[in-house]
Amino acid sequence: MIIEQAKYLCQMKRVFLLLGSNIGNKQEVIITAIRQINSDAGKVVQTSALYETAPWGFKDQDLFLNAVVEIEPSLPPAQLLVTILEIERQLGRTRLVPKNGPRIIDIDILIYGDEIVNTPELTVPHPAMANRRFTLVPLAEIAKDYLHPVLNKTIGQLLNECPDTLTVYPVGTIEWQ
Ligand code: ADP
Ligand code: MG
Repeated sequence: MIIEQAKYLCQMKRVFLLLGSNIGNKQEVIITAIRQINSDAGKVVQTSALYETAPWGFKDQDLFLNAVVEIEPSLPPAQLLVTILEIERQLGRTRLVPKNGPRIIDIDILIYGDEIVNTPELTVPHPAMANRRFTLVPLAEIAKDYLHPVLNKTIGQLLNECPDTLTVYPVGTIEWQ
């Protein structure tokens, strides 16, 4: 009963996750990750297109594929983080490379409803999202009018004001079901 109640309470929040990959069969890895998220972290209710994006930060690496998904979370924020890090690990993610360097799979929590989290392990909303077109373009595709709970601007506004100029190019829809 208590578990059911907790599930109900967190399902009232709209949660957006960013997925990224730039090693191996990027599309396949992202689709596998979405299936895993759907079974372990919360029902996937929307997916953006798949976008090919220029690497941000550390330039000398392959292009990324990125996508944003919306879930109805079955876990509160801290447990959601543990679960997505475990999905990354199962898909072969290691953390030996430099920050912003190549990765098989990266899953970040962008927004968890109106929740504001600032712990050593987790910052939500994701602190870098307003500076990154590879995040804002797919997010705006599925949630243009969603209000960022800290910046008090819609995702569409944040995208219009974003200083980043790196290429973000749609390459197809995601068939994960
Ligand atoms: P990045 O995503 O910044 O390239 P990593 O994927 O290696 O880096 O994540 C490093 C750590 O960032 C994670 O172990 C996690 O504890 C922390 N972190 C803080 N906030 C978030 C967030 N909103 N989503 C995902 N990870 C986060
Ligand atoms: Mg990450």
